[in-house]
Amino acid sequence: MEAFMAAVRYHGKGDVRVERVRTPSASPGGVVVEVRAAALCHTELHFADGTLQLGVAPITLGHEAAGVIVSVGEGIDAARVGERVLVYYYAGCAKCTFCAAGDEQLCGDVAAQFGFVSDGGLARFIAVPARNALPLPPSLTFAHAAPIGCGVSTAVHAAKRAGGLAAGETVCVYGCNGVGHSLVQLARARGCTVIAVARQQAHLRKASELGAHVLVDGTDATTVAAAVRASTGGCGADVIFECVGRRETMGACVGFGGALGKRGRLVLVGYAQGEAHDFRCHPIPLIVCEQTVVGSVGATLDDVREAIELVAAGTIATVVDSTIAIGDVHALGLERIRACACVGKIVVDRFECAACVADQAPRS
Ligand SMILES: [Zn+2]
Ligand SMILES: [Zn+2]
Repeated sequence: MEAFMAAVRYHGKGDVRVERVRTPSASPGGVVVEVRAAALCHTELHFADGTLQLGVAPITLGHEAAGVIVSVGEGIDAARVGERVLVYYYAGCAKCTFCAAGDEQLCGDVAAQFGFVSDGGLARFIAVPARNALPLPPSLTFAHAAPIGCGVSTAVHAAKRAGGLAAGETVCVYGCNGVGHSLVQLARARGCTVIAVARQQAHLRKASELGAHVLVDGTDATTVAAAVRASTGGCGADVIFECVGRRETMGACVGFGGALGKRGRLVLVGYAQGEAHDFRCHPIPLIVCEQTVVGSVGATLDDVREAIELVAAGTIATVVDSTIAIGDVHALGLERIRACACVGKIVVDRFECAACVADQAPRS
């Protein structure tokens, strides 16, 4: 292994750089994964624009990484070297009540959270505890496996937060890229009627290909509730997954005449920057329609295992927009996510960076 590698590093609000850092080594109980594919998520954009500020910098970003184990630490079977794996990005404290229940995503004292407060997978190598490296079936390419780590597993978890999806229910997926793609397919597979809402025609076309029954143009959020109601005989959706998180999109879901029906469950998955995008709803419609609003964050280790199985079985297909080199992460990655110019995931699958090699002094 080379002593240095290129990595996408977060240095604080608005400061994301591709630079050279020291290659990690395996800790006791851990492994080093040579990353073959790492997907970009809105999360990296949230870091870049300051929406997410977790107070830890500099760190390597990236929480959707797939690759091959190249070394193991003390106590780990050397037979794992060469194993194809997907990284699970939470490592809880293993002591709190949430961790005991397997809900590491709620742990208040995480040992690590890769790509958030610990060095993540947008780099040639990542070091993780052995239990965070989950075996991948040989049928999955790395580029199509990487988005399982967040894009699919977040959907699997959100479906559970909705209280499950029953056959015959109407499920609205508001915002159809990444997590939304997985939710459309998951709801379809469970026998639900699926309504996809998106502003981009390309996103609606993809949602249709993936199984959405009804397509709603979300260009003008004030028309969405009526369109959803019209397609549900006036009842509104049983479940809405809100993957956008803007005030007007959340607003379209709730209130009298909103897209959510009686006893409906609204699952908040997306968020946007600033007080302009807080969630507002008078309690009366929630009360008299007995609606439920829940948040959903990340996924458990079991959710990720289930997500791998769903993709391996062909129930959910990951959608890859493009594959890029690490040096292009701004121009061909984050800027295209910001502009909603991608359909599916942008995946980094080349980790050499000419600019980093030429970098005068290696950092840390
Ligand atoms: Zn993500
Ligand atoms: Zn914990």
